[in-house]
Amino acid sequence: METEEKKKKGMYESVQYQFETAANVMGLDENIRKILATTNNEIVVHFPVKMDNGSVEVFTGYRVQHNNALGPYKGGLRYHPSVDIAAARALATWMTWKTSLAGLPYGGGKGGVQLDPANYSQSELERITRRFTYSLGDNIGPDIDIPAPDVNTTPQMMAWIADTYMSTKSPSERSNFAHVVTGKPVGTGGLEGRDRATGFGVVVTLQAWADWKETSLSGKKYIVQGFGNVGHWASLFMKEKGAILTAVQDASGTIYAEDGIDPQDLLTYTSANNGRVAGYSKAHAIDPSTFFTLDCDICIPAALGDQITEENAHLIKAKVIAEGANGPTNPEGEAILLKRGIDVIPDILCNSGGVIGSYFEWLQNKSGEIWTMDDVIGKLESKLLISFKKVVASSVEYKTDLRTAAYIVAIKRIEVAYKLRGIFP
Ligand code: GLU
Repeated sequence: METEEKKKKGMYESVQYQFETAANVMGLDENIRKILATTNNEIVVHFPVKMDNGSVEVFTGYRVQHNNALGPYKGGLRYHPSVDIAAARALATWMTWKTSLAGLPYGGGKGGVQLDPANYSQSELERITRRFTYSLGDNIGPDIDIPAPDVNTTPQMMAWIADTYMSTKSPSERSNFAHVVTGKPVGTGGLEGRDRATGFGVVVTLQAWADWKETSLSGKKYIVQGFGNVGHWASLFMKEKGAILTAVQDASGTIYAEDGIDPQDLLTYTSANNGRVAGYSKAHAIDPSTFFTLDCDICIPAALGDQITEENAHLIKAKVIAEGANGPTNPEGEAILLKRGIDVIPDILCNSGGVIGSYFEWLQNKSGEIWTMDDVIGKLESKLLISFKKVVASSVEYKTDLRTAAYIVAIKRIEVAYKLRGIFP
């Protein structure tokens, strides 16, 4: 428990350290620094839900809205025991940098409910999701704050959020409800390709990194932490690049196969096994503590924050870390990696495909258009490549690492917005 506390506090300290570092390198205006170092709104709700057995449980939900200088707050909701105010603050702040770097008309928000969804039935999860949405009330809205999926939350849950939001508004307010949330199923306002957008983006940024370093992804060995939405889609796209998946770790265990694991076959297995990799017969179970030390070229942390730290960074063999998760590398771990010449494709760039896909969904809902998978994939790739180029250019201009460079691009856009519009009153 104590370690868990330390980790959660660590994420907020990490994002603040990363911000301060970039602010110093770029010489950020002192007043704007004060604004961006703080969250705008922090909403905590406690709400009762009837369980299947007739008893009532009271849950705690969070929504932190970090900044909206560029547009409505945007970011996911996660269902995980580690969700608390510090985690929500850290994740909301990362969203501000992510949406700004991607050039989207959004700010940053994040939230969730402190629970382990494995402990609840589908109908309980539906009531939890609906009551949480109701409790958030008008703190969310299509032009106010737009949630999306994150750790352990699904398109089905997004559909429940949209339905609850619509059902609790008066008829005159309902017309434009669908884009109150993104990541919905395709059958109800969702975007073709939103499911794979984050994992696709991870591989687009890895390919851009490989091109930049004049190497290829083909034949490269990689390891993935987390085989949820991001991890499994990234692995499927890495397979198309000819890369070889040698190890996967999730909360259930760590599996390894020297000759490679077929991501499609593993997905078939995990889909029938509550999403868990443990027990997969075509790979060996290995000691979880050895995961980051495994021999490989590429490491894709795609699970939770604070995984690559001062405790394991010196043992990592990969030449590049592609951050599919939010905040997987803490500043101490990153300093060691950079010293050892290991590149880190930072989360706010590497996993930004998800929120870019959300933006496309929001636009599609607003305009009544329906885009094809090809449209989505093509537009996603070009936006990600623009971001990647901006980050590389910024790293050259400021002679700094990719994360600091990405922060500078993101912060500058917000700095300009504040300077142009001023501070009310
Ligand atoms: N939860 C995702 C993230 O961390 C997606 C957020 C969104 O689509 O709004 O970027």
